[in-house]
Amino acid sequence: MDDDNVVLSALCNACDGEGRVPDPKCAVIGGVPQTVVTSRLCRWCDGHGYRQALRPPV
Ligand SMILES: [Zn+2]
Repeated sequence: MDDDNVVLSALCNACDGEGRVPDPKCAVIGGVPQTVVTSRLCRWCDGHGYRQALRPPV
């Protein structure tokens, strides 16, 4: 196994590795105002679920 091309990364702590985050919105459905939760792409990891966060000592 070649370890030279391994990119160290960590789970994105903004989306917990899911790549999407909840995006609550106000909506009126059937005349009743309520909160509807949709999801959007995580802006921190661009939907990958991980970030290059590990920087080993040189
Ligand atoms: Zn993320």
